[in-house]
Amino acid sequence: MLKIIKNKMEQGCKTSKYPAEPISLYKRYRGLPVINKECRDEIIQLCVGICPQDAIDPHNKTIDLGKCTFCGQCEVEGEGEFVRFSQNFELGTASRDALVTDGVLPELAEHSKQHFKKLFGRSLQLRQVSAAGCNSCEADTNVLGTPFFDLSRFGIDFVASPRHADGIHVTGPVSRNMTKALLDTYEAVPAPKVVIASGCCSISGGPFYGSDEIVGDLNSLLPVDLYIPGCPPHPMTTLHALLKYFK
Ligand code: SF4
Ligand code: SF4
Repeated sequence: MLKIIKNKMEQGCKTSKYPAEPISLYKRYRGLPVINKECRDEIIQLCVGICPQDAIDPHNKTIDLGKCTFCGQCEVEGEGEFVRFSQNFELGTASRDALVTDGVLPELAEHSKQHFKKLFGRSLQLRQVSAAGCNSCEADTNVLGTPFFDLSRFGIDFVASPRHADGIHVTGPVSRNMTKALLDTYEAVPAPKVVIASGCCSISGGPFYGSDEIVGDLNSLLPVDLYIPGCPPHPMTTLHALLKYFK
């Protein structure tokens, strides 16, 4: 017993102090893009040409974060003239349109479903549905339960049964084979319920965009309340989005 206490004292508290204190991510992390609207057309066209996700609109000079995989090719090939990725991981939005950004995202705290904060602010139980995800989104959701993130300290947990859940957290591009299971899971959640699209796959199809085997756009099946972009979304992005939307 004394050994355990000694060990605990040596290790100290491993849990992040976020959001009470800011947190810095690894320097290679790519977050909210900073877009240079004055950039030369030839550089913009170069970026458009190499973007595998068709995420760049050269006319409005915007990037669709619902499609972007944050591969960083536009920054590398354009030598940062058009796009540079910042360390800002606060990327969640309450509307699909808001993900098409010129470098600024609307304040997530000002979404229209403020009553969700009253309903779920003290306790939010989510059922995770992997609708043909590649397992990266799922793994980076899973780590939210580890001591560093400790999601349950905010009253947010993932549960096994949709009947015990307040909503679903969906990852993956929604393959045709998973569509019925996803819809059945949604139906099993008692109302009022929330739908969270996590990762560019569930928002737009991601790298599988255009495939006949996927639905791609979760919003075409279910009313999405919260969008969390990324490929996969960083756990801090998910944590920030959940806290801003529900707390
Ligand atoms: S980082 Fe996003 S916008 Fe840039 S090339 Fe990759 S997918 Fe396209
Ligand atoms: S968004 Fe990226 S990480 Fe997530 S399931 Fe799709 S391909 Fe995998």
